[in-house]
Amino acid sequence: MRYMSTRGQVRDLSFKDAVMMGLANDGGLLLPKQIPAIDTTQLAAYQTMSYPQIAFDIISRFTGDDFDQNDLRELIERSYATFDHPDVTPVTKQDGVYILELFHGPTLAFKDVALQFLGNLFEYLLEERNEKMNILGATSGDTGSAAIYGVRGKDRINIFIMHPDGKVSPIQKLQMTTVTDENVFNLAIRGTFDDGQRIVKETFNDLDFKANYSLGAVNSINWARVLAQIVYYFYAYSRVQPETGCEKIDFSVPTGNFGDIFAGYMAKRMGLPVDKLILATNENNILSRFVLNGDYSVGDVVETLSPSMDIQIASNFERYLYYLLGEDSESLCGLMESFATSKSLQFDGQLQAKVREDFDSLTVDKAATVDQIRDFHQRTGYVLDPHTAVGVRAGERLSDPDVPVVCLATAHPAKFGDAVQQAIGQDPERPASLDGIEQRDSRCELIDAETEKVKAYLAQRAR
Ligand SMILES: *Cc1c(COP(=O)(O)O)cnc(C)c1O
Repeated sequence: MRYMSTRGQVRDLSFKDAVMMGLANDGGLLLPKQIPAIDTTQLAAYQTMSYPQIAFDIISRFTGDDFDQNDLRELIERSYATFDHPDVTPVTKQDGVYILELFHGPTLAFKDVALQFLGNLFEYLLEERNEKMNILGATSGDTGSAAIYGVRGKDRINIFIMHPDGKVSPIQKLQMTTVTDENVFNLAIRGTFDDGQRIVKETFNDLDFKANYSLGAVNSINWARVLAQIVYYFYAYSRVQPETGCEKIDFSVPTGNFGDIFAGYMAKRMGLPVDKLILATNENNILSRFVLNGDYSVGDVVETLSPSMDIQIASNFERYLYYLLGEDSESLCGLMESFATSKSLQFDGQLQAKVREDFDSLTVDKAATVDQIRDFHQRTGYVLDPHTAVGVRAGERLSDPDVPVVCLATAHPAKFGDAVQQAIGQDPERPASLDGIEQRDSRCELIDAETEKVKAYLAQRAR
């Protein structure tokens, strides 16, 4: 399998080079040149396969022959052995909806599914190439700790993670700053997540700096993250479909950076019988406005109960846009250029109709989120975290009565205890991994949201 950039200047990379490049050197995002197809026989075979077996079957279709198959299988098994549930991402049925629990990894959010894999993948590729890497990433809360747990203590890697100071939950912050391995650096920036994401993009676009410091990307601009997330759409289908007998199912996805739901879109293009992808957002609803009205214009970031989705500029959106525009890099570059200056894109009726074939969307505000957690708890006894609640709300409202809906549970409720407390008047049960976290040593540096300052900090501490 070969990879190319959405912007058309990077044309022919191996899987390994695509993973190492992160953001494409022409400023675009990397995609496979073809999308492998999974036929109905293979889909049926997944029903009796374990999560790591399905993961190997799907991921190996995207790596190509230059990846030793036994090494890949071993790497995948090792990545999912850290999850505390034997099914890795179990599915549970609650009052008519299916909940796909993606939070059984070391940091209790779905980002572990991709980042446990990516950490091991980086380690493997750096060993093979005898190279080192400095990872620079921005987090709205969950990517940071998941990335840190993915690479902590690894020999050839230093990791620098920026989070918006004061805008992540207390547990999220502690999960990052209490990892005191020598190769881990936490930066609290005076700004928003979008500032952090901008700094990452600007730093990666300085190609000399990127080469000198062997920068690596852990944000969902890295293709390997999207790839690892495609797997659980197939996994969920293989477990839910036989139970329902319906050929097609809906997925509801709490969305911020468009990474997770884009993986669902890829799964659909590979042949997974998806009826609707339901894009659920909080008040930061640029993507919802895009789906419903063709209006992709940036507003101000507002703070909500689901901070990991407090994002306006969704970096993965460009990948979808590339397909929407008929895989035409020239038109895409035009749109991205005009967006860079105007911060707004408008889509006409024809394109919008195409979007609506794949997506539906709902905005769920604070009050509705709290109401959803409370109401769902009363009906089922099951405690939703605020991000998952946004998705379940949209799933319950928008899915067809005769089409089963799988709601992606993106975080464990214990990560967002305040919101849960507000909704049901009690704290969520705390998993053992959080025991005593407030008492552990922590390390973090406060810094201005300026690209040059972050670059200087990294340069002094790079591998
Ligand atoms: C990151 C995150 C999201 C949003 O996922 P995207 O891939 O950015 O759309 C939703 N919920 C939780 C808990 C997250 O950590």
